[in-house]
Amino acid sequence: MKWEESVRRVVPYVAGEQPNRRDIIKLNTNECPYPPAPGVAKLAAGMDSGAFRRYPDPDASILTDALAEYYHVDPQQVFVGVGSDDVLAMAFLTFFNSGRPILFPDVTYSFYDVWANLYRIPYQMKPLDENWHIRPQDYRQPNGGVIFPNPNAPTGVLESLDTVEEIVRENRDSVVIVDEAYVDFGGASALAFLERYDNLLVVQTFSKSRAMAGMRIGFCIGSRKLIGYLKDVKFSFNSYTLNLPAQMLGAEAVRDDRYFKDITAKIIATRERVKKELKDMGFTFPDSMANFIFATHQKAPAARLFRDLKEADIYVRHWDKPRISDYLRITVGTDGEMDALLAFLKDDLDKL
Ligand code: PMP
Repeated sequence: MKWEESVRRVVPYVAGEQPNRRDIIKLNTNECPYPPAPGVAKLAAGMDSGAFRRYPDPDASILTDALAEYYHVDPQQVFVGVGSDDVLAMAFLTFFNSGRPILFPDVTYSFYDVWANLYRIPYQMKPLDENWHIRPQDYRQPNGGVIFPNPNAPTGVLESLDTVEEIVRENRDSVVIVDEAYVDFGGASALAFLERYDNLLVVQTFSKSRAMAGMRIGFCIGSRKLIGYLKDVKFSFNSYTLNLPAQMLGAEAVRDDRYFKDITAKIIATRERVKKELKDMGFTFPDSMANFIFATHQKAPAARLFRDLKEADIYVRHWDKPRISDYLRITVGTDGEMDALLAFLKDDLDKL
């Protein structure tokens, strides 16, 4: 068929499974095992129908103002979207437009090459070192932009702020995006450098540390100039990305800082305990500062553990890809969920 020649063909990103069942232990998409701040459900339950009837404010001021106050920046430095995937997709479209290759790590979040291919942005992937760390010197070549997560996914490895700043400083001629989807689980944010670098964009999400993956809320903070360009592109695409209930509920979540700190501390404590137990069972893993652990076992192929776990209704993530096919990415759930996982793994390894 002739028309097929004009189709924009892409290989889509494959998201983790979302089975329609509640009775599984779901450790495969890095969701938060705890509910969002109590005020969120209360506000949702009593939401006025006006929140559905009217178009939202295109600037999403309810939410951008709450975020600006929380992070001590000007509202004009904040941009929100339908999850950080939406924010990142807009940022690729806006900032990676030079024709020069953009740079990101190999291994990293597997959506980056998908967006690059979608927008026909050339890219080069820079291998991590043997300890899964970024080599900042790899990012010292002419480029059309740089993006990396910190902590990285799916490894959980955190780069120091010195490394992050070095990459931003050495790339003043392009936009550097730091994807901080997992920064709230023990990382330090590049927001600290905002005043020094107008080419830095920091992206975060409500999906993990704020327990709102289902609402789809993401945001980024950068210089007024960067955010202005991002808004121009967004308003050329869809004036109303984030719906009004999401804006209101997101703002409510931001206001409850105590709850946010409580649940992130709980997840960190569980993670550290699970690290010890996995180690005792013979697993090895890069030291994760995220809400997941990227683990491998010398005696048990990851594909087999993945399959066995799934048969027992315990879902984790596994990629059949070079360098990472021996690893499982295990989201940190509640203590009870992690106990069930550990008990099953112990049993399964005994059978080998
Ligand atoms: N960045 C990274 C590194 C991620 O792992 C994810 C989660 N898949 C995202 C961004 C996107 O998350 P969300 O769209 O839910 O904000």
